[in-house]
Amino acid sequence: MRGPLVYHGSALPLAQGAPSGQRRVPSARPGDFFGSQAPMTRKVLIIEDEQELAKLLKRQMEELSCTVELAFAGDTGLQLAESTTFDLILLDIMLPGMDGLEVCRRLRAQRVYTPVLMLTARASEVDRVLGLEMGADDYLTKPFSMAELTARVKAIFRRVDVLSEQARDSQHPLRFGATLSIDPRSREVRVRGQLVQVTHKEFDLLLHFARNPGRVYTRAQLLDAVWGYSHEGYEHAVNCHVNRVRAKIERDQAKPELLQTVWGVGYKFSPESASP
Ligand code: CA
Repeated sequence: MRGPLVYHGSALPLAQGAPSGQRRVPSARPGDFFGSQAPMTRKVLIIEDEQELAKLLKRQMEELSCTVELAFAGDTGLQLAESTTFDLILLDIMLPGMDGLEVCRRLRAQRVYTPVLMLTARASEVDRVLGLEMGADDYLTKPFSMAELTARVKAIFRRVDVLSEQARDSQHPLRFGATLSIDPRSREVRVRGQLVQVTHKEFDLLLHFARNPGRVYTRAQLLDAVWGYSHEGYEHAVNCHVNRVRAKIERDQAKPELLQTVWGVGYKFSPESASP
């Protein structure tokens, strides 16, 4: 460890979603979905105004041993999501009244970090899901097959289990000398002692870097780790978020010291090179 900077965190490969200790984060139940332990039921909320599709989705989720609640409009769905703890929300975008993007935005604003799988009617909406900081975990473009849906849902549950397990052991604040401190519990970031406001995804991105100092990440790796996407073509969302984080933590955004660009590859977090 060089200089006055001390790293107090443990390595954690992913930063998707919220750590345990926040409100209404699904608890870790490793093994209950795929393992040999006694199965525990996951609760799924489906917010979809096409009633036939909603019922089809319900049946599919029940086949995965989930219990399901249905809402056919955005506002009733939001009320349910706010009042009950779910393990997953399947959220249509085009809904009567409040649309799915607004439902997701409001949930995240209230620090409800239940995983959200967005159902979009148009590929053109995908940009909005990813780019507008809605905090969705994944999306499916209609029409999709039930096999596709099942694969995505299982992937989300797997990720939640791994993260919940890791989060239990990774709740202590990370401090990099006097330069930067990151508190996974309160989701607060301090730069040279000053509290800075960061969005949900900006925090996840910074936490991911901070838990892996010195490691170089490609944009695709960051997209996968922080957003849970492995889809190509959305690397610009990473650039955009890196720039926004830099604006908040760097002394000089034109000469970033903490979040450095590795030309031709991606980015790395270099706490030892930051001036105090
Ligand atoms: Ca719809």
